[in-house]
Amino acid sequence: MSETNSERQKVVIVGAGFGGLTCATKLAKAGNVDVTIVDRHPYQLFAPLLYQVATGGLPEDDIAYPVRAAIPGVDFVRGEVVKVSMDAKNIRLEDGRVLYYDQLVFAVGSEGTTFGVPGVAENALQMKNIREAREIKNRLLQTYEDVETGAKPKEALRVVVVGGGPTGVEVAGAVSEMQRGMRREFPNIADFASVTLVEAASRLLLPFNEKSSAHAKKELEELGAIVKVDSAVDRMYPTDVHLKSGEVLPAGTIIWAAGVAAPKQWAELGETDRANRLKVNDTLRLRDDVWIIGDMAHVITESDRPLPMVASVAMQQGRYVAASIQALIEGKIIKAFSYKDKGQMATIGRRRAVVELPNGMRLHGTPAWFSWLGLHVFYLAGGRNRVSVIADWFWNYIAWGIGPRRTVID
Ligand SMILES: Cc1cc2nc3c(=O)[nH]c(=O)nc-3n(C[C@H](O)[C@H](O)[C@H](O)COP(=O)(O)OP(=O)(O)OC[C@H]3O[C@@H](n4cnc5c(N)ncnc54)[C@H](O)[C@@H]3O)c2cc1C
Repeated sequence: MSETNSERQKVVIVGAGFGGLTCATKLAKAGNVDVTIVDRHPYQLFAPLLYQVATGGLPEDDIAYPVRAAIPGVDFVRGEVVKVSMDAKNIRLEDGRVLYYDQLVFAVGSEGTTFGVPGVAENALQMKNIREAREIKNRLLQTYEDVETGAKPKEALRVVVVGGGPTGVEVAGAVSEMQRGMRREFPNIADFASVTLVEAASRLLLPFNEKSSAHAKKELEELGAIVKVDSAVDRMYPTDVHLKSGEVLPAGTIIWAAGVAAPKQWAELGETDRANRLKVNDTLRLRDDVWIIGDMAHVITESDRPLPMVASVAMQQGRYVAASIQALIEGKIIKAFSYKDKGQMATIGRRRAVVELPNGMRLHGTPAWFSWLGLHVFYLAGGRNRVSVIADWFWNYIAWGIGPRRTVID
């Protein structure tokens, strides 16, 4: 099929995440192409709130939006994509099914990476999906039960979070607050709990302004967290983290929030960068009919600085590709993709957050926190999830300090 004819083109989108779903929604609205989304999960994961599942603030289905029938007119196929044959214009699923396309949109996101630090894979908990977040929640809460009954030593209540980016800051803040909430239930052991945030760079939240970094550090310390910057991790064992400086941090729970990379398996499709992202041209294409978006894409620009791996990049690229496929169909010229920076934000705890807007404006504290809450509810997919998250947040707010928010269920 030619790329500019008027027959209905078959668009296959791999990945029902921020980029893939945004693209599918826009294509479905146009109504002149057949769209199929393929994903290994039947839901879209709202990763920005994973840390709240991991620390017992939200139930896991609040951040999982069912996608099977989410977009009228769009087909959903559940499966693991294992092969892309660009010459034959098809993708192969793990179970042997083959799907043919006229246009392929590849939006498979990223995964956790250990940067080769010894012991991370075996001893640290990561937080890239719901299963991992559940594992962190169960470990954090079960440790209190185990220490209380003498099954584990009190030192097991120490938590070390590695990675001072937005995710590490959010986790460390939420763990501090959780530990505070546990005092009522475990008065005899709660004082032994601690959280240490470790960052290799000289400050937290490196992409942010230095003032926001300093503010985040101060807020975390006010919450009771210990913050160690200039502290690269050398290796780790089940009960301690060794820093390059020689310092050893004992830990019952180690959470690795130090970085993500695109899945390595797709490197065969083209040239990749250090984070395994596929390098694409300024129209986000590897070739005329293969579009790469979101965390998987490294758009080659004059500065050759890749865009950040964040949801707003993926969504803007999803919308752009949908519009570009329409332009192809109509025989129009495809303009280069340009990213509109919407600013950045990170939350630290209750009424504690930092927000930076593209115009240079910075917000801290309560106004920043309310902006963070509003934006996350706005971008959360599905009315049920929104209502449920708002109800949970409201409850957490008024029940502050009353007790743990979720429990371990055997
Ligand atoms: C803990 C955490 C916190 C974050 N916080 C923020 C934040 O606060 N703000 C922000 O902007 N960004 C945040 N991000 C980053 C943001 O989630 C990503 O940038 C965004 O999800 C990228 O969108 P995407 O469409 O590229 O991929 P994703 O949204 O990850 O979607 C990829 C989809 O592809 C599917 N998939 C992958 N491989 C296959 C395969 N082989 N076969 C079938 N399906 C497959 C996956 O199941 C998934 O549904 C966070 C990420 C994490 C992990």
